[in-house]
Amino acid sequence: MKLKTMTELGTPIPSHKAYIIRSTKDVSMEQRARVLKETEYNMFSFPADLLYLDYLSDSGSTSMTDLQWAAMFLGDESYGRNKGYYALLEAFRDTFERGDQPRKIIDMYLTGENDVEKLMNDIYLQSFEGGFVNGGIYQLSRPNTFITPQGRVAEYLLFSTLAEVLHEIDPTKKYYIPNNGHFDTTGANIRAVDIEPVNVFDKTIVLEPFPAEEMDKSNPFKGNMDVVQLEALIQEKGADSIPVIYLTITNNSVAGQPVSMANIKAVNAIADKNGIPLFFDACRFAENAYFIKEFEQGYQNLSVREIVKEMFSYADGFTISLKKDGMANMGGALLLRDQGVFVQKYSINGKNIGTRLKEKQIVTIGNDSYGALSGRDIMALSMGLYEVVKEKYLKSRIGQTRYFAKKLAEHNVPVILPAGGHAVYLDMERFLEGTGMKTEDFGGVGFTIELIKHYGIRACELGPFAFEYDQRPPEQQRSILNLVRFAIPRNAYSRADIDYTVAAVVELFNHKESIPKVRISRGKELSLRHFQTGLEPVYD
Ligand SMILES: *Cc1c(COP(=O)(O)O)cnc(C)c1O
Repeated sequence: MKLKTMTELGTPIPSHKAYIIRSTKDVSMEQRARVLKETEYNMFSFPADLLYLDYLSDSGSTSMTDLQWAAMFLGDESYGRNKGYYALLEAFRDTFERGDQPRKIIDMYLTGENDVEKLMNDIYLQSFEGGFVNGGIYQLSRPNTFITPQGRVAEYLLFSTLAEVLHEIDPTKKYYIPNNGHFDTTGANIRAVDIEPVNVFDKTIVLEPFPAEEMDKSNPFKGNMDVVQLEALIQEKGADSIPVIYLTITNNSVAGQPVSMANIKAVNAIADKNGIPLFFDACRFAENAYFIKEFEQGYQNLSVREIVKEMFSYADGFTISLKKDGMANMGGALLLRDQGVFVQKYSINGKNIGTRLKEKQIVTIGNDSYGALSGRDIMALSMGLYEVVKEKYLKSRIGQTRYFAKKLAEHNVPVILPAGGHAVYLDMERFLEGTGMKTEDFGGVGFTIELIKHYGIRACELGPFAFEYDQRPPEQQRSILNLVRFAIPRNAYSRADIDYTVAAVVELFNHKESIPKVRISRGKELSLRHFQTGLEPVYD
């Protein structure tokens, strides 16, 4: 008799064990209804402690691993050149540049290495240049690695400094930054310095149907940048109006869909031809690499580490939130290729762009060896970068997201397929079909309010409300998708939790006529208004 393996049976192999748990509280529907009302029905103001499940974000909501907690004990809170600084810089080199040959010097700390000569030679006095992470004297003379508390701080640092340089080059010129899907803070940081963020993706491709049962077999990489649109934009505006091209991997604003290596190469070739630096918004680089391994021809036999190395070989720099695939609860970074296109182009008037960035980093977020992070946080994310590229973890992570989407699809709930890496997105256009709800009724928000009220689950509208449909010109309105996102915290929820969520969503879908329209009661014109406006459901 030959027994089937669990993989053949479609049941995932356990990827971890939970030794610490947190109990939920018994909150009644009436209590939740009262809290909703008193917090102006804004998803961001609902107290997390009163929820059963929280899919607001996968950002910083990770359960860290035992190795990360162990590393935190070794955190060094010194003001200058704490131990973790070296571990983190090496973790960056290992992750983004060394593929299957990591040096992993953090192990020397974990095992209490006491050989001073060895520590000096292997860690403290090592110099590096020519990559994303200069070391020793080169990090001082040509700074190119900037630790920040979050991704958005890295974005602020980059775009505010870039705008100063562009202003010195030509104070009157109008600039554009294309992206396969600007994240909300990325777009806002660019707009804040009077540069125009341009989304370069094809909405119809994202919404194209895909059979749920195909999800384990193929993937259309719907997160790709539309290269035809990109070339048209460069033609129309001129290459000198585009200071940098951005590629977000995976594409969070476009339903968390992955970007293929072929697309990365194609965008790189266009950037190269036009002398424009290519940057990644690299928040979910590991999940993206796993999709490439699973579904892109020629990559099945490469490790995720090797795929990550190849992906980053096409970038000239990147911003990253380490609260995502850094597996930590806090952290971010900006990295520039040493003497790359960006550094050469924007080091003007006798001043290295890295030096400008570092000066701003020091006056706003702290010196370069900690960037507003505690020493223990730096250790947690140094270790997190090794944890996140483990393939068993990635398989279970992406498998859980896929399971969630598959279960919803089995109940005919309109969900974007295939599932992305970190989140499941409901297509609210189709979800609300037949209810007579209009785009500006913000039915997606109404759904999230009901979901909290009845079932204690928080999700987030990323549609006409969040993307300010009513405040945008018609040509921008057209690219706004009407989605509700369930972002899954890493290593925090079980299959039973997903089943609870599916049951709740299906029940609301079957009673969709009860979902209220939502009106903005305060702060309609505020920027990033999903974080700050007051709302009011309108029950008929
Ligand atoms: C989360 C995120 C950011 C911003 O990072 P924070 O750490 O939240 O500031 C930028 N881009 C993408 C794609 C993200 O998902």
